[in-house]
Amino acid sequence: MTALYQAHDDVAIITLSNPPVNGLGLATRQAVTDALARANADASIKAIVLTGAGKAFSGGADIKEFGSPKALQEPNLLSVILAVENSAKPVVAAVNGVCMGGGLELALGCHYRIAAPGCNVALPEVKLGLIPGAGGTQRLPRALGVEAALNMIVSGEPVKSELLAMLPGQKLFDKMASSAEALQQDALSLARSVADVRPLPLVRNLPCKHPQGDAYFQFARNMVKGMAKNFPAPVKCVDAVQAATQKKFDQGMAFERELFINLMWTSESRALRHLFMAERAASKIADVPADTPNRALQSIAVIGAGTMGGGIAMNFLNAGIPVKMLEMKQEALDRGVATIRKNYESQVKKGKLKADKYEQRMSLLTTTLSYDDLTHADMVIEAVFEEMGVKEAVFKELDRVMKPGAILASNTSTLDLNKIANFTQRPQDVIGTHFFSPANIMKLLEVVRGEKTAKDVLATVMALAKKIKKTAVVSGVCDGFIGNRMIEQYGRQGGFLLDEGCTPQQVDRAVEKFGFAMGPFRMGDLAGNDIGWAIRKRRYQEKPNMKYSKTADLLCEKGRYGQKTGAGWYDYQAGKRDAIANAEVVQMIEAHRASLGIKPRKISDEEIVQRLVFALVNEGAHLLEEGIAARAGDIDLVYLTGYGFPIHRGGPMNYANEVGLFNVVQAMNRFAQNPLDDAQFWQPAPLLAKLVADGKTF
Ligand code: NAD
Repeated sequence: MTALYQAHDDVAIITLSNPPVNGLGLATRQAVTDALARANADASIKAIVLTGAGKAFSGGADIKEFGSPKALQEPNLLSVILAVENSAKPVVAAVNGVCMGGGLELALGCHYRIAAPGCNVALPEVKLGLIPGAGGTQRLPRALGVEAALNMIVSGEPVKSELLAMLPGQKLFDKMASSAEALQQDALSLARSVADVRPLPLVRNLPCKHPQGDAYFQFARNMVKGMAKNFPAPVKCVDAVQAATQKKFDQGMAFERELFINLMWTSESRALRHLFMAERAASKIADVPADTPNRALQSIAVIGAGTMGGGIAMNFLNAGIPVKMLEMKQEALDRGVATIRKNYESQVKKGKLKADKYEQRMSLLTTTLSYDDLTHADMVIEAVFEEMGVKEAVFKELDRVMKPGAILASNTSTLDLNKIANFTQRPQDVIGTHFFSPANIMKLLEVVRGEKTAKDVLATVMALAKKIKKTAVVSGVCDGFIGNRMIEQYGRQGGFLLDEGCTPQQVDRAVEKFGFAMGPFRMGDLAGNDIGWAIRKRRYQEKPNMKYSKTADLLCEKGRYGQKTGAGWYDYQAGKRDAIANAEVVQMIEAHRASLGIKPRKISDEEIVQRLVFALVNEGAHLLEEGIAARAGDIDLVYLTGYGFPIHRGGPMNYANEVGLFNVVQAMNRFAQNPLDDAQFWQPAPLLAKLVADGKTF
């Protein structure tokens, strides 16, 4: 059942009923249209109330219909809204819970609206790179006033119904119900009180003016343009709302439609919709049913109070989960706790955290030097030095003290999780939780599934990730997991580019112009160049035939580790993060290049970006093939949330789809011809080659 019909004496109540948020899918739209016709045909009915079952009026479009022809099939949303407007009997929207997107547009088509307090009201289409497409840009300014409506449409953010009701002169809500519980009764009363009023009021007939018209919209457009650099939709929101003030209603609707359809076809909107779907898909694991019971997690232990341990602990404190932190020495504990305090205090200073909340969070944190104090914890996360011997000692201790069924997690970034699991007698309880630095801020969490990790452990950690507001992506076990294994190839290309003729600035500038938050060399300086150095030293042993540029090693030999030493690829002034070019580094690169007998060539920004990004793509394709990553969308999420990949490009795999996989492979073949590059690496991954042969995308 997608809409219920109930007669309450002389008023019909139509209840949208399509869980979880009464999305306006085809069946629901049809059911509403049918119910309206039924109410109009029934002589005993004088008025109609339209409301939503459960916690929502309607969350808008049904995401299951995203991009499918069903979304446009008649009755489409525009037709349903027209049917409401044209109802001969008054229709009262009784707005409960959530009223967003198409849901709000539907309510705006009703003759009257009454809302429960506490409803979340929004037109969030801009977050998918679109504008509202069913009259939202034309009706909301008429109902709410131009400025408030434009603010809602451009930001996409929800506003509480009671705040909207307080706006002077607003006609969005004719009435507020005294409570959510009273909504239906109040709506019935309103419906009866207006049953005989004619003509029926329509939002489309309300005036729409702004006293400073042109000046206001010019100002708004400038502001929005500055903030929405890479996205066309926000400016189109301004255009559409301005049209509402200038054009007749039907012309405004046609204009909105045109803008909406044009935006549908932009790569930016495709990228945002891809991200939206990828986020939903990432929590689904093929062989772990959604109803897998979770293990109870009331308290967490963290081993190691260093850079990562402290940040990891903060996530749980923020979510109200008690944390016990263990270290080898009291000084290390004190240092770790002081860093957490400092982080919170800076949030308090900036007004981002209330002082009492800060104290509340700190009160959830306890410390210990003894493993025997961890016996009550439901889960432990290890964040000690990245050395197998140290991990072994820690996991043997954890195996000794942790209660049966406790989850044992490692934050390792490079070590073999299966090996770590086998240090214990309970490898099924061991999992990787690879946080990114700073762990209290970065959204990404790679959840590493070991060979023997139990399904309920995986399901529990995925649910925990949601609780601490992380974007969790499952990765299989391999060196570097998804993100770092790919970034190694990206970094290798960066090195070759220096050898062939680029400066670090030129590479960073090209990559930042493409939209990355930071180019590879600025990123190296931030993360610490010594980390990559340590990995390369290992690689020289493991893969002696793999080609590497030695330039980064020379840099590290000079002690230029990056921001932490005040010098890396760039210079840094104390307390500042601005990268200042350093002539000696450039000379060092030139001297090394000369020693290799390489004549520098001019390399275009396009080649720089393609070599770096397509290196990610090829390695990503290998990861998919090996089953380390389950979906191309998972890889994109990792890059969008953990590596600063430009959002408007939707991640490396989505970007490759946009460029066309055939074109990507052509470019790879060209790069393979370059004797200074790594021809073997540029062999397209078999999966990629197959997709091209089949004319498919990732
Ligand atoms: P860190 O050196 O800052 O902190 C490690 C802490 O562990 C130190 O405080 C140390 O005293 C403590 N420690 C060492 N051995 C211990 C033991 N046996 N028992 C208890 N405490 C012990 O290191 P970090 O950067 O926080 O890294 C920790 C882990 O997280 C490593 O596995 C690392 O690979 C991983 N990691 C680091 C980053 C990063 O950017 N730093 C990112 C992701 C993952």
